[in-house]
Amino acid sequence: MAEYKGVMVYAEAAEGKLAAIATELLGCGRKLADDLGEELSAVLVGSEVSSLAREAIAFGADKVYIVEDRLLKDYQTDAYVPVMERVVKQAMPQVLLLGQTSIGRDLAPRLAFRLETTATMDCIELEIEPESKRLWQTKPVYGGNARAIFTSESEPQIATVRARAMSPLERDASRQGEVIAIEAGPDPSVIRTRVLEKVPQEVEGIRLEDAEVVVSGGRGIGSAEGFKQLEELAKLLKGAVGASRPPCDNNWVPDVLQVGLTGKIVVPELYIAVALSGASQHMAGCSGCKNIVAINKDAEANIFREARFGVVGDWKKVLPAFTEKVRELVAG
Ligand SMILES: Cc1cc2nc3c(=O)[nH]c(=O)nc-3n(C[C@H](O)[C@H](O)[C@H](O)COP(=O)(O)OP(=O)(O)OC[C@H]3O[C@@H](n4cnc5c(N)ncnc54)[C@H](O)[C@@H]3O)c2cc1C
Repeated sequence: MAEYKGVMVYAEAAEGKLAAIATELLGCGRKLADDLGEELSAVLVGSEVSSLAREAIAFGADKVYIVEDRLLKDYQTDAYVPVMERVVKQAMPQVLLLGQTSIGRDLAPRLAFRLETTATMDCIELEIEPESKRLWQTKPVYGGNARAIFTSESEPQIATVRARAMSPLERDASRQGEVIAIEAGPDPSVIRTRVLEKVPQEVEGIRLEDAEVVVSGGRGIGSAEGFKQLEELAKLLKGAVGASRPPCDNNWVPDVLQVGLTGKIVVPELYIAVALSGASQHMAGCSGCKNIVAINKDAEANIFREARFGVVGDWKKVLPAFTEKVRELVAG
């Protein structure tokens, strides 16, 4: 009987390029494959993805499986799940990694069900346990207040990985690899939905998920007007504005700016938390950030337990002075 072997990465592509999460997964997958002494493969599924195979190899893959079909132009559950099921049954990877993206969140559990295995969602660390050679999958639990390590007894061991939790390898165009086209195209009769239109989300400036600096405001900001001051600071630091849930619920800022358990997960270099208490549901979205700076008038607020630096005071007094100092420093 064929054995499950090696590590496979589901490589997402966007706008004719490998998505950042794909390069991060390839970086992590490379290390896992080396620790197992086995191969790293990537899967590219779409309508025009074959040109990206070389990129996947340059970022660490030994082998790239390609499934191209015009019916695979946009991600659709009905089309992609059976395609990936066929690819995995053919390639039989021991470990399958996907991004914790809207695609990975949809695909991984469905695939796990069909393959009679498990999927661990939203991992932030992965390693091969040296003795058992099983995948140890670390993920935040209890709203980010603790971490748990999972292993799976079935195969393939499927995990989704949070964006920016792993680092890509340096791109190496001289790396060699094999490209394999797979006839696993979808059966049109099983596709029950049609994509009629795609409306890109309009964002001014840097997207929250991509920002190196996030200035987030909470209920204590009090109004949409107050958020203008946060925007000013974010702009100076070439960052983005985020929010806890109350400002979104109160329509002071759009819902897409919500950080947390039911919002976005961000991992910027610097997270400035202004007038938000640091509830566990909020921290679930930013606890991966090492440099949290908090401004809060309540010295007992939970955010100070999470913050590297903190100022106890009214943000209306602290923030203008802070912004002025940043302006001076930026101006040199
Ligand atoms: C299932 C579920 C999912 C949730 N998902 C999310 C989520 O994704 N994201 C999220 O954020 N929340 C989420 N929540 C809500 C969460 O539990 C908290 O209620 C919320 O994060 C609190 O937001 P806050 O810190 O802005 O408000 P509060 O907890 O009310 O804190 C306001 C803070 O502002 C400070 N403050 C007030 N005025 C000033 C001032 N002038 N100067 C300085 N400081 C001031 C106060 O001291 C206080 O600490 C979720 C809740 C549930 C049950």
